Amino acid sequence: MKWTHLVIHHTGAEEKGARQVREYHRRLGWKDVGYHWLIERDGRVVPGRPPSMRGAHCLAGGMNHKALGVAVIGNLEVRAPHPAQTAALEELAARLVAEYRISVAQVLGHREVPGAATACPGRYLDLAALRGVLARPETLYLVQAGAFRERDRAEQLASELREQGFDTWIAVR
Ligand SMILES: [Zn+2]
Repeated sequence: MKWTHLVIHHTGAEEKGARQVREYHRRLGWKDVGYHWLIERDGRVVPGRPPSMRGAHCLAGGMNHKALGVAVIGNLEVRAPHPAQTAALEELAARLVAEYRISVAQVLGHREVPGAATACPGRYLDLAALRGVLARPETLYLVQAGAFRERDRAEQLASELREQGFDTWIAVR
């Protein structure tokens, strides 16, 4: 997958957490939750479907084939995101933009995708502010968990951490 865009969503409902969204999407017959990441009310970032899998979050513009999808849990058409959610979204988006070399101009709210007829991610999610943060050079503090000469061992640790709910990725140096 070559990810050139990042599309931001809200779930539009006040689900208890990422698990509930995942169960809902699975009941629709989908392979997994449609987003690649979900941001819970307390700012916890929960991995959705893996980034190696095509998204199921934005048909418009062919975005399922070219965009990673992140969803903030809640109805942000009626309330503002919690500060922890805004902070988590900024951190996650900054990391994804850097890791996948996505241009800040291609970080879009769902409704900004040409052809999308939706209010998503809600009027209270400030997309211009998000892009403003991303355009600013900033320091990111990454936590490294291990370094291996064999990819298999790295994958093993990464999957163990993922099972524990950590958002994990492998960087090659
Ligand atoms: Zn959406």
